[in-house]
Amino acid sequence: MQSLKQLYKIGRGPSSSHTMGPEKACLRIKQEFSQADLFKITLYGSLALTGKGHGTDRIIKETFAPIKCEIIFDKKSPCDIHPNTMDIGAYKNNELIGKRRVYSVGGGSILFENEESETPNDVYSLNSFTEISQYCLKHNIRIWEYVRECEGEEIFEHLFKVWDVMKSSINQGLTTSGILPGGLNTQRRAQILYNQRHIDESAQTQENRLVCSYAFAVSEQNASGGTIVTAPTCGACGVVPSVLKYYQEKKGFSDEQIVRALATGGIIGNLIKTNASISGAECGCQAEIGSACCMAAGALAELFEMGLGQIEYAAEVAMEHHLGLTCDPIGGLVQIPCIERNAVAAMRAINALSLANFLTDSRKISFDLVVKVMYETGKNLLSDYRETSSGGLAKHYTHHESQE
Ligand code: SF4
Repeated sequence: MQSLKQLYKIGRGPSSSHTMGPEKACLRIKQEFSQADLFKITLYGSLALTGKGHGTDRIIKETFAPIKCEIIFDKKSPCDIHPNTMDIGAYKNNELIGKRRVYSVGGGSILFENEESETPNDVYSLNSFTEISQYCLKHNIRIWEYVRECEGEEIFEHLFKVWDVMKSSINQGLTTSGILPGGLNTQRRAQILYNQRHIDESAQTQENRLVCSYAFAVSEQNASGGTIVTAPTCGACGVVPSVLKYYQEKKGFSDEQIVRALATGGIIGNLIKTNASISGAECGCQAEIGSACCMAAGALAELFEMGLGQIEYAAEVAMEHHLGLTCDPIGGLVQIPCIERNAVAAMRAINALSLANFLTDSRKISFDLVVKVMYETGKNLLSDYRETSSGGLAKHYTHHESQE
């Protein structure tokens, strides 16, 4: 598995596959063909179908500027190799001087055709939760210590930065109101929830509202093109920060403890990324929000210093009950159902933690198994439900509807 730096990336939303990945591809092509005076980009699959809403065209134009570029949204051609494919042609005086095909493979990572993966070498030799768990048991260490063994102390510098960005995206989201861009007229609601956090007497309701306000805050920042951390993706960026921020305030955990929890949650996300997928275009929302929920549940279990079995069970429960979750963003925007979905997944992560506290000994399903099932389920989902905005809510929503 690769470094956690490849999982937790700091960048601008709203979509790791649709903005961060294409931005990286265009930067490389722009450098490679610095003499070009025109770029022609053809987007296929999910990039074509939801690229406008996800801001792909905006980020491509911004990256190639001041050089002119033409963008074609090819919604018809089959996209057999990868659902997020783009062709980029470089031109000089109307002559084609070079052409590249590139896949945006999730979490902001890209892969150029006929090239090895763009990402650095693997730094983790163990690729399943079972193996990692056995290793940690044998050496009497926790998962975050395994991370330190594999990546060195410097990974924690990165994770401290990640935590800082997560906190500031919550703060910015909570202090911003108004309508999100994109034309769907989606109101920002983080501040509304936050201001109502004390209205009910019930502690449970207050907890829900506060956690949700944090998840809304980060997700709304993402939807407006703000800076967030992929955890594991832009679309699912609100889940992990919201639960960690909530428990830091509630229980007084130090930033150092939070960062260790991020390391453990990162291993869980990394396992999913390596053995299955974290891409909504590849495996539906279960791969994005489901994975974020696993990471959050595992991170919380680490925060409370639970055993390896409990960490595994928390993460497993979190994915098991997201299986089959489709990706159907209305108008191709990362707003409905995405923002609410982050909040619901945050509450689910807390519930998974609670179950792990009491039921771990009677569990039957391993984390590795549920990841395998998620991948198979995702591959069997019709493309309508894999970030194409051609099924589900995206298909049936009409602008007359006043509520989600
Ligand atoms: S529905 Fe889920 S996978 Fe699809 S764009 Fe929204 S958050 Fe991402």
